[in-house]
Amino acid sequence: MSADSRADLAVVGGGIVGLACAWRAARTGLRVEVVERGEPGRGATHAAAGILAPDTEAEPGAATLAALGRRSLELWPAFAEDLERESGREVGFARCGTLVVALDRDELDVVRREHDVLARMGLEAQLLSGSECRKLEPGLAPVCAGGLLAAHEAQVDPRRVVAALVDALVAAGGVLRTDAEAVGLVREGDGVRGVVLADGSRVAAERVLLAGGAWSGRNGLAPVPLPVRPVKGQVVRLRAPADELPAERMIRSEHVYVVPRASGEVVVGATTEERGFDTAVTAGGVLELLREAYRALPEIAELELVEVTAGLRPGSPDNGPLLGETGVDGLLVASGHYRNGILLTPVTAEAIEALVAGTPPPEAVEPFSPRRFA
Ligand SMILES: Cc1cc2nc3c(=O)[nH]c(=O)nc-3n(C[C@H](O)[C@H](O)[C@H](O)COP(=O)(O)OP(=O)(O)OC[C@H]3O[C@@H](n4cnc5c(N)ncnc54)[C@H](O)[C@@H]3O)c2cc1C
Repeated sequence: MSADSRADLAVVGGGIVGLACAWRAARTGLRVEVVERGEPGRGATHAAAGILAPDTEAEPGAATLAALGRRSLELWPAFAEDLERESGREVGFARCGTLVVALDRDELDVVRREHDVLARMGLEAQLLSGSECRKLEPGLAPVCAGGLLAAHEAQVDPRRVVAALVDALVAAGGVLRTDAEAVGLVREGDGVRGVVLADGSRVAAERVLLAGGAWSGRNGLAPVPLPVRPVKGQVVRLRAPADELPAERMIRSEHVYVVPRASGEVVVGATTEERGFDTAVTAGGVLELLREAYRALPEIAELELVEVTAGLRPGSPDNGPLLGETGVDGLLVASGHYRNGILLTPVTAEAIEALVAGTPPPEAVEPFSPRRFA
């Protein structure tokens, strides 16, 4: 049994969300302890492509979520800069832009509709012809019929972000306990004052933040409903020589996205599957991803196949995150970020930092109170 400890904030879950909230809180001088049942960053964060695309990923009618994403994208450059300075590690933030491409007439209709929806929501994207797309990205298939350019969108490398967060958290005086599964909460009256770990030890804390990703609803820790479910995503990693990337920008078609990184890594993603906690990678999943990526960028057939991964996105009933006070004294949540958890990390950390400090969280976060599902 490990020793009991005491903190101002105990964080359950060492994915990108829990680590970022912990780091920001530790920088304010609070004693922060993260408990992670395995290794940090091996949940959904490990699979994620790192696309920071609030506009081209926006769903029709989800204006509040797009606004939250935009706010977070605005925060990303300073967040990455602080993190790189405090950890001494690079995180791969790059404002490379997204090009959404149509590979036939039907897809072109979809892209045009997407452009109209974005314009109505006041979001930025420029409609291009097929030849304009190919001028920007010569590796695109000649069938490219048109596209939508969002030059302001960006990417980051989630695995590098996790490595940097771990170091920055420790540098700020925070504690990360690995192989430490939270199995219960320390209750005091109606409130929560810490977590109980599987080995029987306790982290006593003024506040607890639940950031357990897709497992947040399953842990049985929260005394209030947390309707978070796993949504499986398979993703393929390829490698290109760094000076021979198949594209400069992130390329998205109706069925696939391709994210080229300066390091030579090329991420092709992602399936969306409702299969509970299953994380098997399947021949069908890989076939679909590579076929669709090849339709858009034929050169990818030449690249080295490095890895196939499946991760579990933390889905919520309205696809928006659950951020903030749960209604139980001392218990906060940051989960349900679904397909935008990397994008939403800075705004989530800002909101939790504000709540812990007793100052108002950013306005864009208000619609995402976990209490909307009570
Ligand atoms: C294939 C795929 C591609 C994606 N691409 C993108 C993208 O391009 N851009 C984007 O913005 N988002 C993307 N996402 C979504 C993003 O990955 C998630 O929203 C984000 O990683 C969620 O982070 P998290 O920290 O909440 O969860 P996780 O990364 O899953 O971390 C949760 C952690 O909590 C731990 N935990 C759970 N329960 C306990 C417990 N009881 N005790 C201790 N520890 C516990 C787990 O072990 C895990 O490490 C993608 C997701 C997938 C699957």
